[in-house]
Amino acid sequence: MSSALLEHLGLADDDRVVLEPVGDETPEAGIVLTENPATGRPIAGVRLDTEESYEQTMLAAIAGFDRWRRVPAPVRGQVVRAIGEEMRRSLEPLGELIALEVGKIRAEGIGEVQETIDIADFAVGLSRQLYGKTMPSERPEHRMYEQWLPLGPIGVISAFNFPNAVWGWNAMLGAVCGDSLVWKPSLFAPLTAIATNSIADRVACQMGHEGVFNLVIGTDDVIGERLIHDRRLPLISATGSCRMGRHVGAVVARRLGRTLLELGGNNAIIVEPDADLDLAFEGTFFGAVGTAGQRCTTTRRLIVHESVADVLVDRLVTAYKGVVIGDPLDRRTLVGPLINSRSVDQFLRAIEQAKQQGGEVLVGGERVTGDGFGGHFVQPTIVRVPASGAFPIAHEETFAPILYVFTYRDLDEALAMQNNADQGLSSAIFAGGMRAVERFLSPAGTGSDCGLAYVNGGTSGAEIGGAFGGEKDTGGGRESGSDSWKQYMRRQTVTINHGSSMRLAQGIEFGASS
Ligand code: NAD
Repeated sequence: MSSALLEHLGLADDDRVVLEPVGDETPEAGIVLTENPATGRPIAGVRLDTEESYEQTMLAAIAGFDRWRRVPAPVRGQVVRAIGEEMRRSLEPLGELIALEVGKIRAEGIGEVQETIDIADFAVGLSRQLYGKTMPSERPEHRMYEQWLPLGPIGVISAFNFPNAVWGWNAMLGAVCGDSLVWKPSLFAPLTAIATNSIADRVACQMGHEGVFNLVIGTDDVIGERLIHDRRLPLISATGSCRMGRHVGAVVARRLGRTLLELGGNNAIIVEPDADLDLAFEGTFFGAVGTAGQRCTTTRRLIVHESVADVLVDRLVTAYKGVVIGDPLDRRTLVGPLINSRSVDQFLRAIEQAKQQGGEVLVGGERVTGDGFGGHFVQPTIVRVPASGAFPIAHEETFAPILYVFTYRDLDEALAMQNNADQGLSSAIFAGGMRAVERFLSPAGTGSDCGLAYVNGGTSGAEIGGAFGGEKDTGGGRESGSDSWKQYMRRQTVTINHGSSMRLAQGIEFGASS
């Protein structure tokens, strides 16, 4: 399966890819092994960039930008349209490569590529709508307006868990905005990055546009640091952990560059007494178990009214017991592996701490081993939180399928619990009545403090049309739909005097004759 897939996606012919690695490839030797997390065995080796090859790529991106910025935006949109079409043709193999390399189930791998196709469609329309405002000038015979201009080559850093769509969000918008890209993917998903970037670059080159889509693959200390310190990149868009974002944010701020940070989440669902429990069940189940708990928007905390807690939790426990864990490429599988053994250790450590802090494991809590489970599998887990006392482990984003269940008596208490997290990415309420819903969405900002708020829907699985991102330690960035495109451009306020006298703003008189 894996060699046919690599062949089909052109990876077998790519100079960076080392097929049939022998096992002694190391970053020090300039090669990284990418593993199948379902088996723990290598899929291929990938050659890493050096400082010199980084520089060549950077120069190509600068030259590419200088040509690309001159192409009219609607024409850039046609290139993005063609890339979207090519992604459509590669939907299934690319989705399967994601499943193979990062372990998300096939349906979710394909869904991820669909997200890139959707944002390409969005970007095509956007290429004719990069609107600036006009505003009345206070001076006679003056005109004022804003125009949006291409920003430059931009740096994109992506997390392992969305190895295609995070690039898509940045690249499709950045491209119609007139930027070229230098993408540094996670070393846990380099094959998906090579396949994805090759599609975009090939299509763009065939249409006469070289140097728009560029890729660098390397370690954080060499290539990552080089990229974030590079003053030639006016924007660094970084997706990943809060730890990474704190560092990248500080480095880029020191050189007064811009960042777009999409970092971790600790997302909660509130369930009111009058909620439709069928909906609440489905939203929680997908939110907490989907992608084996490895989404930034994964539901990590269930805050359920005490009057309905037992019914809902019993139903979840039963469903968890029946979850099919296994090979992500098997269509019956609902839960694939975690990305690596470190994630398994973190899962086990979190369970241990949860127990020490008084939590009760209602289902799961173990590593899954045995035939067919050679990789990094764990059981989806529900932990009931003790009624009183601190429970610090629930404040951590353990990137694994652990759901902590809290109960509450009144909605203000539930909202305080929900907002009591360092991150502010996604939030949801299941409720029948409008009062609770409006309290949750209060226009005074006293409800959910997150960037995403769902009513009768789970925390996970955003559509591309809205701006995506979160507050507090999630980093404040917004990507994807709405007006997120503005971050990939620079704004210029234009004032034109079309009269014959010089008039100063605020009516100031200043001159030899006054
Ligand atoms: P990570 O922070 O370990 O790595 C993310 C990326 O940052 C990788 O490409 C990594 O190589 C790079 N990186 C790390 N240090 C760097 C440095 N010094 N310089 C330059 N680049 C550096 O995260 P991960 O384990 O790949 O992904 C999981 C995390 O990402 C979770 O916290 C998850 O919530 C978050 N995430 C957030 C979003 C979002 O949109 N908010 C989406 C996906 C994932």
